[in-house]
Amino acid sequence: MVGMGTPRRKTVQGRAKAALRKVRELALVGRALAATSHPVMAQIVPARFCNLSCAYCNEYDKVSPPVPLDEMERRIDHLGRLGTSIITISGGEPLTHPELDGVIRRMRKVGAMAGMITNGYLLNVERIERLNDAGLDHMQISIDNINPDDVSKKSLKVLDKKLEMLAEYAEFHVNINSVVGGGIADPNDALVVSRRALELGFSNTIGIIHDGDGQLKPLGPEEAKIYFEVRDLERRSYTRFNAFQEAIAQGKPNDWRCRAGSRYLYICEDGLVHYCSQQRGYPGIPLAEYTTEDVKREFLTAKSCSPNCTVSCVHQISYIDHWRAPQTRMVSPGGAAAAGEATGQPELVQIHTGD
Ligand code: SF4
Ligand code: SF4
Repeated sequence: MVGMGTPRRKTVQGRAKAALRKVRELALVGRALAATSHPVMAQIVPARFCNLSCAYCNEYDKVSPPVPLDEMERRIDHLGRLGTSIITISGGEPLTHPELDGVIRRMRKVGAMAGMITNGYLLNVERIERLNDAGLDHMQISIDNINPDDVSKKSLKVLDKKLEMLAEYAEFHVNINSVVGGGIADPNDALVVSRRALELGFSNTIGIIHDGDGQLKPLGPEEAKIYFEVRDLERRSYTRFNAFQEAIAQGKPNDWRCRAGSRYLYICEDGLVHYCSQQRGYPGIPLAEYTTEDVKREFLTAKSCSPNCTVSCVHQISYIDHWRAPQTRMVSPGGAAAAGEATGQPELVQIHTGD
């Protein structure tokens, strides 16, 4: 039954890996603060295919083949050359990739922290042990509701056994992300999911499901209440201090500097660099041709979508440099680029900031 027992088992090997992971994390924070000319995090897609079909999702299909391992290795090596600190695999569903262990091994070989985002459906004990052996550092599973419905089948009732397996066998860090918004029927489910995550010894975060283009939609009063209740449970998570998400919950725009294309890269299954999952097509440069000069240019490029953006992982990465270098160029992904064509205005315009 959901809610019963099985707190996280900690083996000697698991504890040693966790301690080493902490040291590596501290080192990467030091590197991130020391210089701005390298990406802190890249999200890379080894499989666009997904075994589920969540109603709010625009990041999957049912036809794409997995990216071959040798191609994934070339892309990861290039991220290594750019000095990327954390590489996270997402999708689609990464566990549908037949050679995912090799992808993770390569991420560790280039010196990056290795993370993945999964719906968890394909986990079993053997797969968890293979992920341990490959060197996975972090796993995030998003659980949307308690019982599956037409919007989402990422449900606690379906996945609780998988969570118990992870609690027993995983030597990597596990974070359970609960959500509000996006048509999820009962916001109270997020509270149940969060309590279960903490009971099993995992960390817990709460996200707000963005609309079709990653832009802000205010939460209803009940959703906002649950959002803040869950945030109060997240004592061990630094996202507790993330004011961005709180403004989003209240439907307020954020004043921040999006460092996508610089400190954060999104690499699609075709090997192109995009700002984020919601702004695919910009800058749309093949990763193999992406240079430190591109990273530096995008660091100083403001994105017009930033005030109403809900892409929290980019918020968090950009926060490291919040106090740094005002952005002096502006790009308007999507709308303004098209408008630029219509009006003859350039896609990139100079902006002036007060600081
Ligand atoms: S499991 Fe993830 S990738 Fe698959 S449809 Fe749902 S949200 Fe999209
Ligand atoms: S502000 Fe940045 S992270 Fe947000 S949608 Fe725009 S490019 Fe993506």
